[in-house]
Amino acid sequence: MTGRPAASVTGRLHHLFLTSTAVVLMVAGVVVLALELMSSRDTMISKAESFTGLTAPHLANALATESPLLANLLLENYFSEADLLGIYVYRLDGSDLVHMIRPGTEETLPTPDMRLKNSIKADYRFSHKLFEYSQPIRLKQELIGQIYLQYSLSTVVNQLMFYLLFGLVLYLVSLLSVYHLSRRIQRGISQPIDQLLRAMHTVIGSQKYEVRVPVPKQDSDVSDLIRGFNQMLEQIGKNTQQLAAQQKAIEQHVFFDPLTGLANRRMLLQRMEREVIRSRRSGHIGGLLYMDLDHFKTINDSLGHAIGDAILMGVAKRISAAVREVDTPARLGGDEFVVLLPELGKHDSKASNNALSVAEKVRQAISEPHLINDRVLHVTPSIGIALFDQENSNFETLIMQADLAMYRAKDEGRNRVQFFLEHMQEHADHRQQIEERLRAAIDQDLLHLCYQPQVNAKGEIFGAEALVRWKDSDLGVLNPDAFIPIAEMTDLICCLGRWVLSTVCSQIARWNEDGRYLTVSINISPREFQQKGFVESVEEIVLTTGISADQLVFELTEGVLLSDIDATIAKMKRLNRLGVSFSLDDFGTGYSSLRYLKQLPLDALKIDQSFVCDITKDANGAAIVATIIAMSRHLKIDVVAEGVEQQDQLDYLIRCGCSMFQGFLFFRPMPPEELEELIPKRHKSHLDGTLITTVPTWDGFDSY
Ligand code: C2E
Ligand code: MG
Ligand code: MG
Repeated sequence: MTGRPAASVTGRLHHLFLTSTAVVLMVAGVVVLALELMSSRDTMISKAESFTGLTAPHLANALATESPLLANLLLENYFSEADLLGIYVYRLDGSDLVHMIRPGTEETLPTPDMRLKNSIKADYRFSHKLFEYSQPIRLKQELIGQIYLQYSLSTVVNQLMFYLLFGLVLYLVSLLSVYHLSRRIQRGISQPIDQLLRAMHTVIGSQKYEVRVPVPKQDSDVSDLIRGFNQMLEQIGKNTQQLAAQQKAIEQHVFFDPLTGLANRRMLLQRMEREVIRSRRSGHIGGLLYMDLDHFKTINDSLGHAIGDAILMGVAKRISAAVREVDTPARLGGDEFVVLLPELGKHDSKASNNALSVAEKVRQAISEPHLINDRVLHVTPSIGIALFDQENSNFETLIMQADLAMYRAKDEGRNRVQFFLEHMQEHADHRQQIEERLRAAIDQDLLHLCYQPQVNAKGEIFGAEALVRWKDSDLGVLNPDAFIPIAEMTDLICCLGRWVLSTVCSQIARWNEDGRYLTVSINISPREFQQKGFVESVEEIVLTTGISADQLVFELTEGVLLSDIDATIAKMKRLNRLGVSFSLDDFGTGYSSLRYLKQLPLDALKIDQSFVCDITKDANGAAIVATIIAMSRHLKIDVVAEGVEQQDQLDYLIRCGCSMFQGFLFFRPMPPEELEELIPKRHKSHLDGTLITTVPTWDGFDSY
């Protein structure tokens, strides 16, 4: 069914009704008229016949006697009918015996027709206004003359005209009535059907299901039909809406980030592909901004995820407002946002400038204070930029380049914009290489541990810190700084940590067997500590090696506090119950929160070597160290000073009340065989948790 029909059902019915009525009435009128004509003719003929029947015998006598007078007298008696205009009586030779004409009509009456005059049998003829009738007159079967009558037809014609007019009026009145009747029927039946048809065509043409057909008041099949049609439309409308909503939701889910409504990775990739094709045609350079919010994890963990989400939504809005219509802002997950900037210019310099100004605009927009739940919060982004053109257009590579640039921006102090540069790629490649080799090194047991002794104020060794070393066949001996940060970027740190822990425990077990008892500190990275099943894995290793967990100290950095603090405390307490002690490494360099410090089950703080180094260089450094020591004493936590290299540093530390030290001034990290020589053999029962040997290389303790 397409387009509107040529004529509506109503129209057709109406037309059919009127036409058929008109035809029927017309035929009926014609039949009535014809019947009337025939009956008038018959009346006229019978009138003439009865006249001649009455007069003919007498006129035969008048003709036989050649008596016009007799004929005249006779006819005068019968010449009373109003429409009888003339009477002629002829002899056999055709001459008039007598004739009589109604006065006043002599001139209008035509001369009698000869054919009638000569007719030997009765005959008649109708003309325009006249009815002529002739009858032979016989006497004893012998033809002796003829009577000829002329009747006026005006009465008949008038009557017929009256019938015709009356019929016409009746016809018109009937047609008018039929017209109105048909209209009423149309309103009752055809109009609803017509509306139904119109509605169907609208629905098919426009796919709009809001159309409704008015239901006729009177209950009938038609009203049922319309009601059903309306219900069907309502249902289809609902289904269509649901379908559209579902489709939108699917699209939203597939291509958009549910929290911020920005494009997701998939959508970004699609747009990127489109822009690369376009840039190939136009020769334009495009850009990719990759941004990450500085310390967002801290905000999320300390203020809660609801506020974190509100910030992400606010940031998304600001990014969208700061970029052009043609740009595509996207969220890749967490606090990572990307903006695709197409058509930045045809030359590198112009494109870079444009990308930089957009990135700056975005950075400033995000850095404006955020008002969330009546709190003013500050977030800043670090933004990396990578440019793309025909040659450099691989999505993953670009994301990686922009990501590298973003990390560089973070390294350089955060809240800034950094372009991707070639050497970053080299760093990244190097990182990749280290990661692969380190993985292999762990598998092939190419790592080893050395131990740096820790001493007390009396110069006795009370423990040692296990420090990992890696001897690579190509790269030589690598210090942890060269590979631990890389391992920390992936789960590799967990494998490495497990290896360190089990190596240390096995070493302690061997020493214990040998009668040498020592507490060993192990560095635990935040990622390693936070992994699921960490406590269980420690438990398992301790059990397997058969050592006592009292001989283990886990050195955590402040990074561990950046995640869920309650979970961290719970985990520490579980390990504490096993016997493990804790110290906070590199204290003062990271995210220090004194509030948390009180809550953590810590045994010691390790003052970072940068502060120890500053003791002799500037007053501030010395003051910081003194404050840390005083605070620790107040919190009843031990303090270990790391990186003690010089005598005057040690002097100052001891003056401040520090009683535990680690540094080159005493010992450098050494292989276990070497350390073993420094730990005297003892009976375990003689130990009180710390075993100790006098420092052989240094002799300044006694003066304090
Ligand atoms: P850290 O835990 O603070 O370890 C102390 C670092 O300071 C060691 O460096 C040690 O050799 C060095 N050091 C000790 N005394 C002095 C001194 O007097 N002067 C100077 N300049 N340095 C001194 P190393 O062995 O290179 O380790 C660096 C960092 O690598 C460690 O810092 C630790 O954070 C990490 N690390 C080492 N081994 C492991 C490990 O097995 N697992 C994990 N997760 N991290 C480790
Ligand atoms: Mg350490
Ligand atoms: Mg340290």
